[in-house]
Amino acid sequence: MKPIVIVGAGISGLQAARLLEIQGATYLLLEKSNKIGGRVQSETVDGYVLDHGFQVLQTAYPEVQRSLDLTKLDLSYFGSGAYVHQRGQFEPFLNPLKSPFEFFRSIGSGLFSWKDLVLLAFVWFRLQGDVPALDGRKETVGELIDRLGFSLNFKELFLRPFMAGVLLDVSLSQPASLFYFYMKQFMEGHAAIPKAGMGAIASQLAETIPAEKIRMGVSVTGISEGCVELADGERLEYSQLILATEADVAAGLLGVSTSDFKPLASETFYFKAKGFCGVTDYLHLFPKGGRMAHMSCLSKINPAYAPQDSCLFSATTLALGHSAKEIQQELANYLGRKEDDFHFIQSFAIPNSLWKVSDFQDLKEEAARRNIFLAGDYTQFPSLQAALASGRMAAERVVEKTN
Ligand SMILES: Cc1cc2nc3c(=O)[nH]c(=O)nc-3n(C[C@H](O)[C@H](O)[C@H](O)COP(=O)(O)OP(=O)(O)OC[C@H]3O[C@@H](n4cnc5c(N)ncnc54)[C@H](O)[C@@H]3O)c2cc1C
Repeated sequence: MKPIVIVGAGISGLQAARLLEIQGATYLLLEKSNKIGGRVQSETVDGYVLDHGFQVLQTAYPEVQRSLDLTKLDLSYFGSGAYVHQRGQFEPFLNPLKSPFEFFRSIGSGLFSWKDLVLLAFVWFRLQGDVPALDGRKETVGELIDRLGFSLNFKELFLRPFMAGVLLDVSLSQPASLFYFYMKQFMEGHAAIPKAGMGAIASQLAETIPAEKIRMGVSVTGISEGCVELADGERLEYSQLILATEADVAAGLLGVSTSDFKPLASETFYFKAKGFCGVTDYLHLFPKGGRMAHMSCLSKINPAYAPQDSCLFSATTLALGHSAKEIQQELANYLGRKEDDFHFIQSFAIPNSLWKVSDFQDLKEEAARRNIFLAGDYTQFPSLQAALASGRMAAERVVEKTN
């Protein structure tokens, strides 16, 4: 019996395989690298847990709640809000609904005015009920933030850098609906990291997939009628095909132009420091002038990310090409410490961290024409929510077609 073939063991491919396993389907998951997880991986270096790029799990994502056992992931939570670097120090802007008492610490920081709070209350009302991630309107996140009428300080020091960090997009040219969607996630859930690192999400999805149904180190190089071709020349017949690769790989395999695809880059640098970390368990934002978009002491949030008596710092840039030395100097400067208090561990430069939202129409049409199912975050919008949901939808469509 020919198997359903899934190409790519990132979150969307693992989700599709997991659901096909539950359905008792005959399938095979092919992954070109030697590790599962795609963009969601973690490794441990000398006792420090390094995620491949700073990422968080939003616990309120509907598909996260449906697909993952959050208790088993043993999550630690970021504080809700952020500390913003201005006038040489970090000022808090904390979520008044989640930390009403701590919120009073934010008053007088100069980050926001009373009018901003009234406007935020309007945004909060707008978040009640269903908030679609994409609503088809043309307005961008940046245009929406300008239109809502917030004060210059609140926009430039908090809202813009915060959303740039969430979307990995300094230009804020993603659809405005994502602003409301992500605000709702932050209001209703937590930004979290699992005890064993973000890679634990992929491991949990893979738990129920039998080893013989995953082939690692296998790169699909072509697709011809009813067959996938592998890099070593092997040809594998399939009954149905799910392409769960990155957008550009799917386009390459289907012979579709990628000229309209816009990648968003990021680089995360990890540093260790001995002793007291000196910052909070919130995200720390750098609105202006510097190289870093944001920084956190991950071991403050989740002590399992570093050995005892040691701290793990992440510093993320939204442009590639900065040296670890430059980031180390900036980190020391911002935290008022000596440069050699910090020791560089490793960095992850990811040119295609996310794909800018687009309809990917040619790709979707070509896949439909060839009866191939697409999964992957880009088919909706860049997020774990979309990766999980697209994997689910692909598996459901395949099962529907098979029965
Ligand atoms: C730095 C960074 C920060 C992020 N932050 C967040 C965040 O905070 N919150 C959030 O929700 N999301 C975040 N994301 C997005 C999230 O990680 C992705 O949405 C999700 O991992 C995408 O999963 P996927 O399955 O769609 O694609 P991928 O993870 O890209 O998986 C594709 C898989 O296909 C495999 N593959 C490719 N070509 C072939 C081939 N020819 N043959 C076989 N296999 C192939 C790849 O090796 C890979 O394993 C972030 C991503 C990055 C990189």
